[in-house]
Amino acid sequence: MREKLYRFMQGRYGTDKLNQFIFYVELILLVLSLFFRRNIVINILFYISIIIYLARALSKNYVARSIENQKFIRIQAKIVHRFQAFNKSLKDKQNKYLVCPECAQIIRVPRNKGKIEVRCPSCRKSFDTKS
Ligand SMILES: [Zn+2]
Repeated sequence: MREKLYRFMQGRYGTDKLNQFIFYVELILLVLSLFFRRNIVINILFYISIIIYLARALSKNYVARSIENQKFIRIQAKIVHRFQAFNKSLKDKQNKYLVCPECAQIIRVPRNKGKIEVRCPSCRKSFDTKS
């Protein structure tokens, strides 16, 4: 049995950051489905998330799954960094904190300098912003 399972899982993608996230979404939907037993939308979303999770974990297409995971990590970093930049901007009265639209790096710029051009120290991309 163990041998069979091992052979079945060989060459398959398994889990990654995106699948961990989908797993947490499943848990949340499961809890919600306990409170809203008759809600068809929650139940359908729960089963769809399980199907996506299994399809990704059992996939043999490493390249496609890795690309999906990289995209997910980039989007997640942008959201987290935007939140952190907002928090830092609230605490720091002299500076403003921005998120690079290209690489999601947090960039500190001085406040009240009007319209300025910012160059990201990480990816070198320039963009205009109000300070
Ligand atoms: Zn950048």
